Amino acid sequence: MNRLFGVIGDPIAHSMSPLMHNAIISAHHLKGYYHPFHIKRKDLEVAIKGMKALGVEGFNVTIPHKESILPLLDKVDPLAKAIGAVNTVVREGDSLIGYNTDGDGFISSLEKTVCNEDSVLVVGAGGAAKAIVYSLANKGIAHIDITNRTVEKAEEMLQKCPFPLKGKALSLEIAEKHLNRYDVIIQTTSIGMHPYIEESPMEVRQLKKSAFIVDIIYNPSETKFLQEARKQGAQVQNGLGMFVHQGALAFEKWTGIQPNTMKMKQVVLNQLGGNDNANR
Ligand code: NAP
Repeated sequence: MNRLFGVIGDPIAHSMSPLMHNAIISAHHLKGYYHPFHIKRKDLEVAIKGMKALGVEGFNVTIPHKESILPLLDKVDPLAKAIGAVNTVVREGDSLIGYNTDGDGFISSLEKTVCNEDSVLVVGAGGAAKAIVYSLANKGIAHIDITNRTVEKAEEMLQKCPFPLKGKALSLEIAEKHLNRYDVIIQTTSIGMHPYIEESPMEVRQLKKSAFIVDIIYNPSETKFLQEARKQGAQVQNGLGMFVHQGALAFEKWTGIQPNTMKMKQVVLNQLGGNDNANR
């Protein structure tokens, strides 16, 4: 029998996950298929019952269901519960278990090791930022400041973090002035993506030359923020690695197989028609 996997979201047609997962299903000679399911908000509950009834072995969850799916699952992993969002569901017997692989996927993708002594700044306080901050804190990285347009959201994220964290919430203006304090800067806002391709969340003139800058956007492959940081001499990385590694961790949970992440990355790069120049 064919094994069935998938992703639920609305919209879903743009998702690169089916392409990436079907490539590894085929590379590992599994008899299976990964399908994009277009599920509207109002249909989420019935869709989850449908996933169970149809015997789907595992699926990813994307916008707008990452938070609202939690009460519909049989069990939620503690990290996903703390983050308040699930991006991966695994079927175990008759139960559906929710996980969040975004933050750990981000950490696995890092091309430079981030250690406890590093001073880290996260730009943005949305869902992706929370997954990254809580996963870093869970791994013992405790010096994380958060800057966001809405500073109260950054404060709340710091206060509610269930792992030790010694960070401050800052306005974008204050963070911009003191960028030279940070060894690692992680850009997680949607600024830099369509329709904000010409924009950047902040100026990077004060950047430390040795800083490591990650922007979790990967389309475009190099946001204005990354371009400017690279011109200042910083090492930069885009969000393609995070996307690939969150998918690889999900695939491993479903199948027990650690997939070839280079192959996954190449498939997505081919589809985007780009190269990997943003990561250097
Ligand atoms: P989200 O929960 O909606 O958060 C959006 C963030 O962007 C918030 O911090 C928001 O600030 C900020 N923002 C939005 N418009 C802004 C503006 N005009 N000026 C300043 N700040 C603005 O979204 P998310 O799920 O965290 O996703 C954020 C980005 O990460 C998206 O580009 C998404 O594609 C990317 N992402 C990448 C991966 C990957 O695998 N590489 C995974 C997940 C997400 P406020 O709080 O003030 O509104």
